[in-house]
Amino acid sequence: QPSTLDQVTNLAKRRGFVFQAGEIYGGSRSAWDYGPLGVELKENIKTQWWNNFVRGRGDMVGLDSSIILPRQVWEASGHVETFVDPLAECTACNHRHRHDHLVEAFEDKHGRTPALEELVCPNCGTRGKMTEPRTFSGLIRTFLGPVADEEGLHYLRPETAQGMYLNFLNVVNASRKKPPFGIGQTGKAFRNEITPGNFIFRTREFEQMEIQFFVPPAEADVWFDQWVNQAQDWFFDLGLNPENLRQYNVPDGERAHYSSVTIDLEYKFGFAGGDWGELMGIANRGDFDLTNHTKGSGTKMQYFDQASGERYTPYVIEPSWGLTRSLMAFLVDAYSEDEAPNTKGGIDTRTVLRLDPRLAPVKAAVLPLSKKAELAEPANKLADALRKRWNIDYDDAGAIGRRYRRHDEIGTPYCVTFDFDSLEDNAVTIRDRDSMAQERVSLDQVEAYLAAHLGV
Ligand code: ATP
Repeated sequence: QPSTLDQVTNLAKRRGFVFQAGEIYGGSRSAWDYGPLGVELKENIKTQWWNNFVRGRGDMVGLDSSIILPRQVWEASGHVETFVDPLAECTACNHRHRHDHLVEAFEDKHGRTPALEELVCPNCGTRGKMTEPRTFSGLIRTFLGPVADEEGLHYLRPETAQGMYLNFLNVVNASRKKPPFGIGQTGKAFRNEITPGNFIFRTREFEQMEIQFFVPPAEADVWFDQWVNQAQDWFFDLGLNPENLRQYNVPDGERAHYSSVTIDLEYKFGFAGGDWGELMGIANRGDFDLTNHTKGSGTKMQYFDQASGERYTPYVIEPSWGLTRSLMAFLVDAYSEDEAPNTKGGIDTRTVLRLDPRLAPVKAAVLPLSKKAELAEPANKLADALRKRWNIDYDDAGAIGRRYRRHDEIGTPYCVTFDFDSLEDNAVTIRDRDSMAQERVSLDQVEAYLAAHLGV
């Protein structure tokens, strides 16, 4: 029996959510491509996030900053020095692994810290052949200009956050925001991960949705707690099962170099080696970044409060979502199997993606009962009218029951069937994905019906 994660991975490829990057050349685990349904789902997650956290709040503004940033940015931010992972190599098969991950796996299993000779290579299974760990930079380098030398050395951003710090003064001056306020942005980030894998969970190219929330230092703890709750509520509101989410208070020694407190939200992805994985993190970055950029650039990255006449460096509360990890969590969470009656009076197992309608890649499918022009013409017209507002599929191939199943499997909330009666009563049958209940709705009410039920 394949695991849910395997089923989801399979479905994602078969139905066009996620494809392996460069597959015809053997593929890579570094990155994945988002297919016709995946790009819709990803956009919908992003839109929900943006509307909720950026547009929907008076104390937030948006930004879209660049991916390639000068070396000095990453020196000041501490990434050049500390964004490193301990790497160990198996001398039997020459595969490299994160030393700390091997130690953690051993500790989970045996309840104690292993000696070097006890580590087992996850690739070839050989024991006692791992080297001492050595540090390895997670930054991806690139050289700009005609000569690949130190002058041209730049880094791709490993987090979107720095662009928001660099623009702190620009945003304050341009938008006249004062702390507490935040900047939000979504975009790609790049990390030279030693062991990418677990489908889209860990890749070298991925997307984040991040907020830097600038607050007076005395308010940092209160805002931190609020952001943990708001981040969590956002997932619940979009239908994530609370049983599959838990908080992990990251202990000293395990936090990122800039953080004094971090809470990770972990999701029960159902990995083979242990169910849970980090979905997102909320960190109190204090004044670490603004202070370091003040030192690095000579520009005072501070806020001047005209009312009190006080100048200070705000603290930053940073909720950082992985967009692609969120997409994976929503897919795993939505995947379900149940029983549905078939046309022969029997029962079929059906696969349903119970995605929130706001996230569903296809909002409704228009299904003419037959390919005959007398149905195809008006059904196409209906689909085109609805397309002005939503992503709509038109499907006239195969038995109606099979078409329902195809749409259940990709999470389409509503199927709109145009039958021969429609020509008489100017109405269609709308079928609900979850309850499979059907309702007759007059043609001029279809758009209003969908709008009311989809929530977008
Ligand atoms: P991990 O411990 O899994 O490597 P991290 O603690 O380094 O993650 P952060 O630096 O807190 O991650 O990044 C914020 C978020 O960005 C993560 O919670 C995750 O959702 C996402 N993210 C980080 N690295 C990757 C990656 N390699 N692939 C996909 N998403 C990632």
